Amino acid sequence: MPLIPLEEARRRVLAACPPLHPRAVPLADALGCATSVPLTAMEPVPPFANTAVDGFAVRSADVASASPNRPVTLQVVGTIAAGSPPEPSVGPGQAVRILTGAPVPPGADAVVMVEDTDAWDGRSGREAVGPVAGAAVEVRRAVSAGDAIREAGGDLATGQEVFPAFTVLGAGHLGVLASLGMRNVPVFPRARVGVLSTGDELVEGGGPLRPGQIRDSNRWTLLSLVAGANAEPVDLGIVGDDEVAVAERLTAGLARCDAILTSGGVSVGDFDYVKVVLDRLSGGTMQWIQVAIKPAKPFAFGTIGHTPVFGLPGNPVSSMVSFEVLARPALRQMMGHRRLDRAEVGAIADEALRRRPDGKLHLVRVRVEWSDDDGRFHVRPSGGQASHLLRSMALANALALVPDGDGVDAGAEVRVRLLGWPDA
Ligand code: AMP
Ligand code: MG
Repeated sequence: MPLIPLEEARRRVLAACPPLHPRAVPLADALGCATSVPLTAMEPVPPFANTAVDGFAVRSADVASASPNRPVTLQVVGTIAAGSPPEPSVGPGQAVRILTGAPVPPGADAVVMVEDTDAWDGRSGREAVGPVAGAAVEVRRAVSAGDAIREAGGDLATGQEVFPAFTVLGAGHLGVLASLGMRNVPVFPRARVGVLSTGDELVEGGGPLRPGQIRDSNRWTLLSLVAGANAEPVDLGIVGDDEVAVAERLTAGLARCDAILTSGGVSVGDFDYVKVVLDRLSGGTMQWIQVAIKPAKPFAFGTIGHTPVFGLPGNPVSSMVSFEVLARPALRQMMGHRRLDRAEVGAIADEALRRRPDGKLHLVRVRVEWSDDDGRFHVRPSGGQASHLLRSMALANALALVPDGDGVDAGAEVRVRLLGWPDA
């Protein structure tokens, strides 16, 4: 079977994974989702002019001549705390004690910081808290109109575009939408992704192993990778190498999922029950391919109805790597993301990454670290590279992309795909 370049395999997968139908989801469920339409502010933020500091709301003209040597005395006519209405108004020669976030009262056009004032009775302005109506305040600094006032609509004006379509919503975005009073937000929904382990040798959980049995690890890695991609994992369990059971479990999964990941049963020489069932359910459109990458060469892909099905290899590292390079970009596209792949950086190989030419792109499990000494990223293998050595995958925070050939010399640069920001 010919080796298919990763780019070509990725292109075929993406062509069959269009974005899901957008829908409005509650803000609480929208973290990490991409907006499906531009969002517009229906009200101003801040909703009213308010003070950025604790101090006194004044008429700037009244204090135009104020200085430390020649303070201006104003009559304090009230206090406005955050959450209170903007009363009383400020007339000529008057001031209102005002606390951060409180609305600026009519008549005032600036706020003097409390640090620039003194109270007439000997208390500093800072101490002059509580009801101070009837007191006087000495202003020691001139202010201009607008000083220390956060204007209504200063962050967002009514009718302004808040975020364009395809914005991935993070913490700050959700805060902005909450500040606008949005309760639901139109997004591409999270893909519900079923994960099915196949193989007669697999057992769940602890307890003694019979000869030939191993414990299922792929479901844990793949369910976690799905969750990490901001999609919704659906556990479809383990199914043995049995045609009827595989068909039943897949059919049940298809009824409730937007995409399905299976692991196992896609290599040449497997008991081909997964193959038989996927071929039948997909109407013969399943592609069984050999991707020119190591690990993770065998791979199957197709659609059943409109549901994409990814047949990932059984080897624990191979299933994770093929998720990373083929399934994850497709799930992100389904969820309306524009950036489909993980970030890549250049890094110095601190150890040679030796390879024999084999026509494949090698995805070498590495640890990438930033070095302040030379201002570069550096990488070293995180352990052995055989496709059953899951621990070195767990320890890796990046995959070095070593092109076909003899490998990368120590001290040479290599491209690495980050599996997360290297702060873990
Ligand atoms: P297969 O792709 O079914 O030929 O499996 C390739 C290798 O991966 C075999 O050694 C399997 O035992 C192993 N394997 C398959 N599925 C899993 C799984 N869910 N968890 C751990 N190892 C697995
Ligand atoms: Mg198997």
